[in-house]
Amino acid sequence: MDFMKSERAKESFGPLIFEENRCDLLQNVDTRCLLCEDEFNLQISLPMFLAHIFDVHNIVIEDVQNIANLHDYIRYWQQKFKNTTIEQIIPSITFDSTNQKYFLMSNLLKEDKELRHKLKLEYALKVQEYERNDKSFIRFCLMCKLCYEGSRQGYLEHLSVQHNLQLGNPQNLVFVDELINTIESKMSNLQCIYCERIFTDRHVLKEHMRKKLHKRINPENEEYDRFYIVNYLEPNKSWKTILKEDDRYAISREANADEEYSDWNEKEDQIICLFCKAKETDINVICLHMEAEHGFSFTDITKDLDFFQKVKLINYIRKQIHENRCSYCQLKFETFVDLEKHLTGENHYKIPHLKTFDQPEFYFPTYENDAFLYLIDDVEDN
Ligand SMILES: [Zn+2]
Ligand SMILES: [Zn+2]
Ligand SMILES: [Zn+2]
Ligand SMILES: [Zn+2]
Ligand SMILES: [Zn+2]
Repeated sequence: MDFMKSERAKESFGPLIFEENRCDLLQNVDTRCLLCEDEFNLQISLPMFLAHIFDVHNIVIEDVQNIANLHDYIRYWQQKFKNTTIEQIIPSITFDSTNQKYFLMSNLLKEDKELRHKLKLEYALKVQEYERNDKSFIRFCLMCKLCYEGSRQGYLEHLSVQHNLQLGNPQNLVFVDELINTIESKMSNLQCIYCERIFTDRHVLKEHMRKKLHKRINPENEEYDRFYIVNYLEPNKSWKTILKEDDRYAISREANADEEYSDWNEKEDQIICLFCKAKETDINVICLHMEAEHGFSFTDITKDLDFFQKVKLINYIRKQIHENRCSYCQLKFETFVDLEKHLTGENHYKIPHLKTFDQPEFYFPTYENDAFLYLIDDVEDN
């Protein structure tokens, strides 16, 4: 990175863009500078704050407009710098022309990357919780003349049931208002939401979408990534796979057995048993295995848990087993073989009290691309 680029970056840091129709989820408070006593209201004077840290402390925060909760981000580092100097943690760069050192706070630092990810996830979950509980949602239907009033879930169900317009499982969606805005603006530009072709009038567009079964989102368009909560749980996982898993909310798979879908089915994920090394490509086969081999019925055990509690339960069990620890009584063993003996001998293929695993830390998967997480909704009741 050269000096010019950083100068440009500094200038382009506009005010945080807040989503419309958003309840006030971020505290409107003053934030103390990372390194001195100066305070700033980040919602009003972000550029001033950025100029301050640049001029006074030689700090550049990369991609600052995309930090979900800048106040908490700053507070985190401010606490950190109480005990450790900035030189010890943050990489610095020197510009030849001035010989001045600048500290670059960016994703390149693992701790910074994880913090940004955590803040983004927390923020998305907060918004999602608000959207789920809010019953005062009012909006015209995208397809008919209905003025819908109630919950966002009800609105999405109307689109799905009445018009076969599939935006995904309501449980997996976040920033629903903007998602609908995006779809609405595409359709008013007479653009198909699936193949993104543009048509001459609304009637032709509607006929095309109906006949071609294009009443779903284009999976290649990354513009939609942010509306799927699973993308926040593990950023590497593409939401294409999630759409595939949402098929029961969508038009039948047979109807879509065309080229776009066939390659998704080719590389099927391996799903690993929660308790041993057994692997399957079908979530229901692995559930049968767990029941037969470990006396663990995933459907019975999780029947009162919501989607996120299930995610946390899986991440919790994975972590315990990974550390050779019993997921039920927490006893730790030297080897996996010893743990297995214990689990079988004591019949501890069970889950602990909800409060043990219903913790924010277990939003984070133990393994990358843990297919079990993305197939939870596909588990069939037995
Ligand atoms: Zn300062
Ligand atoms: Zn309608
Ligand atoms: Zn189309
Ligand atoms: Zn097993
Ligand atoms: Zn045990």
